[in-house]
Amino acid sequence: MRRQCAGRWLLVTRLDLKTFDCPAENTWCPGCGDFAILRALKVALVDLDIGPHEALVVSGIGCGSKLPDYMTVNGFMTLHGRPLPVATGAKLANPELHVVVVNGDGDSYGIGGNHFIQTARRNPDITHIVEDNQIYGLTKGQYSPTSDKGFVTSTSPTGAIEIAFNPMVMALASGAGFIARGFAGEPKHVAELIKQGIQHHGYALIDVLQPCVTFNKVNSYEWYRDRVYHLEEEAYDPADMDAAWHKAHEWGDRIPVGVLYRSENHPAYEDEVATLNGGNPVTRLKELVRSPRPEQYEKLKARFF
Ligand code: SF4
Repeated sequence: MRRQCAGRWLLVTRLDLKTFDCPAENTWCPGCGDFAILRALKVALVDLDIGPHEALVVSGIGCGSKLPDYMTVNGFMTLHGRPLPVATGAKLANPELHVVVVNGDGDSYGIGGNHFIQTARRNPDITHIVEDNQIYGLTKGQYSPTSDKGFVTSTSPTGAIEIAFNPMVMALASGAGFIARGFAGEPKHVAELIKQGIQHHGYALIDVLQPCVTFNKVNSYEWYRDRVYHLEEEAYDPADMDAAWHKAHEWGDRIPVGVLYRSENHPAYEDEVATLNGGNPVTRLKELVRSPRPEQYEKLKARFF
């Protein structure tokens, strides 16, 4: 397999973390939680034996949305808040592609909030990793949809007035079949959640608590370490909707991480799109171009020549 990064072609003989490395300059602040998420995504892809040509990483705008620039993989940085519909389109065009969306809490739940709800209920087979740092980092520290009430920032000098958006509750209410939360201070655990999300056939949300060390001085690594606990270590059944609803509301002194909810009851969106019954559109298009039937050839000729 050959891969291209920063204008150079490299020969790949074995899939490992280096396969996904890219020499592009990384401009994240030292200590940013995004580094752990980048590594976790690479680990997940290597463990699942998914090469750079078999995956597409779609992002929006924000610090975390720079991620596709920092790894060798098919990447698409979309408009602010729009990666989910773009990713859905890519999945419909090529269902064999492993499509992953990576963006921040502002991009996911604020600017792209309606796309988040509609994608959860639509259920395309894409994995959505949210770098949730409870602040807008790229624009230098304004409060975001997931900022806690009372959070003081440059745009909330006397404390945020609104209650925080709860992505776990919203995903559950919107019909998502896989809902998980991770913490960037535990990259191995995040990688495991991403693997499970990719393996889930349908929309999978993995909200990762990701400290912004530069602008969010409240929700630090220490703040989270004092609070997060693992659902896997409890007698917890992620198939239990009522239990998930209860856990989705838990926030404050104790914050659950792990798989909150998993259901395989709903078919993925692309499984029910009638026009996909004839097979993968990308493959069909390639076949058509390689060996068009006479009438199709005439149509193509009339259209393009
Ligand atoms: Fe990370 Fe915050 Fe720096 Fe952005 S501003 S790179 S989120 S630490």
